[in-house]
Amino acid sequence: MSVRVRFAPSPTGKLHVGALRAALYNHLFAQKHGGVNILRIEDTDRTRYNADSEQEFIDTLRWTGIEFQEGPHMGGPFEPYRQSERKGAGIYSPLVKELIDKGAAYYAFETPEELDEMRQFQQINKMATGYFGGEWRDASPEKVEEAFAAGKGAVVRLKIPRGKTITYECPIRGRLEWESDVVDDPVILKKDGMPTYHFAAMVDDHLMEITHIFRGDEWIPSLPKHLILFEAFGWEPPIFVHCPVIVGNDGKKLSKRHGATRVLDYAAQGYLPEPLKNFIALIGWAPGGDQELMSPDELVANFGIEGIQPSPGKFDLEKLKWMNGNAIRAFSADELVSAIESYWALPSTQDYFQADALDEEMPEEKEHRQAQFAALGKLMERLQSDREFVTAAILLEQERVNTLADFGLATEFFLVDEVEFDEKAVGKAFKHDHTVGLLSALVESVQNTKPRSAANYDKMIHDWASSNGFEKLGPVVAPIRVAMTG
Ligand code: GLU
Repeated sequence: MSVRVRFAPSPTGKLHVGALRAALYNHLFAQKHGGVNILRIEDTDRTRYNADSEQEFIDTLRWTGIEFQEGPHMGGPFEPYRQSERKGAGIYSPLVKELIDKGAAYYAFETPEELDEMRQFQQINKMATGYFGGEWRDASPEKVEEAFAAGKGAVVRLKIPRGKTITYECPIRGRLEWESDVVDDPVILKKDGMPTYHFAAMVDDHLMEITHIFRGDEWIPSLPKHLILFEAFGWEPPIFVHCPVIVGNDGKKLSKRHGATRVLDYAAQGYLPEPLKNFIALIGWAPGGDQELMSPDELVANFGIEGIQPSPGKFDLEKLKWMNGNAIRAFSADELVSAIESYWALPSTQDYFQADALDEEMPEEKEHRQAQFAALGKLMERLQSDREFVTAAILLEQERVNTLADFGLATEFFLVDEVEFDEKAVGKAFKHDHTVGLLSALVESVQNTKPRSAANYDKMIHDWASSNGFEKLGPVVAPIRVAMTG
């Protein structure tokens, strides 16, 4: 059996880190087993559909380097890959009819008001909420016909068998069980003829010959419905792998406080796709052993379902910074400069720093981001006219910086005509008596140091410090740094 997996987002908004992880696991698993990774767009919920969203998904996935072998953007043997188009192609309705004919699904004619009343009644009486049959689950064919003849609209619901335990041998959590009496009958076809997610996703998984599904564990409560659907058709279900929820470092639901949740914001903040994938892969998956830094090939080689954890995965921004800094330090000079250039050219970078949303959501960050953006802008402008000088400045900061966005501020002092002094820094660095002597000796030594190289300046400063009785370098270096950089 060859592995076929799918990433099946609903284009309703931004691509968030949780979805990226599902996409990544599908990709890693397909690569590892020489299988096929499919992108399928689940756009049957037209009220939540967002036209920009699909493009954002495709752009983000392209940026991360997650690869697909089939999808709406590239075609494939199971076209179309957009569910709205599959509905247009008439793929779903005969299958809905098949279930109705088998008695595994039924028409239900309740109005929204009637459904509201039902829910209120269940809540007041502390009953399980949802639709468990109403007056239509077992209605006679004549009654259904009469309702249609009276011009009433109907949805189609899946008839969950009652009085039965639904079980699943989950590869991560062991045996899962649900009493079918508390699993409500989900709508599979809406009044407007659109299939719902539950139906379209599972039908497509079957038709597209999907073997494994990696998705978030928020889908576990839907699993009994999905299993019953497969059973009703007499189809073999794929293997469902539910990945644990992602929480912040404090164990709370992931939110902006823990770092951005939209993947493109990481691109815009100067994170690189490879360390980001490395980082995201390790949230909820551990390959065993202590190795944390992994190349794309190592991720593929190490990835396996057995390493996926059932307990919540922690999102630790500091770890991402560390991984990203590592990747930055591994670049050659040319690679680094061109990484900064491509980063600066990404529309998402420009959009991010200019977005009004940033002001509302992160008032405390606003000033810093504006300063970062302005400094980067200057750096990139100067790069055009003075590539050698700017490259040298960038290389001096390569050891210190964790994101590409930081290079602007880190090198700012190289680009100004007149250094602006930070009063606090001046007060601290210049408080010793030796400062004036040091700085004048420095000016002289700079003029005499030949050739002018970092190594020679380094030696000169060490020599000066030891001949003037300094055991530690701090009190010597701090005034130099402040004098030169402000
Ligand atoms: N379209 C669903 C989503 O966006 C897919 C869920 C699944 O993988 O089954 O989350």
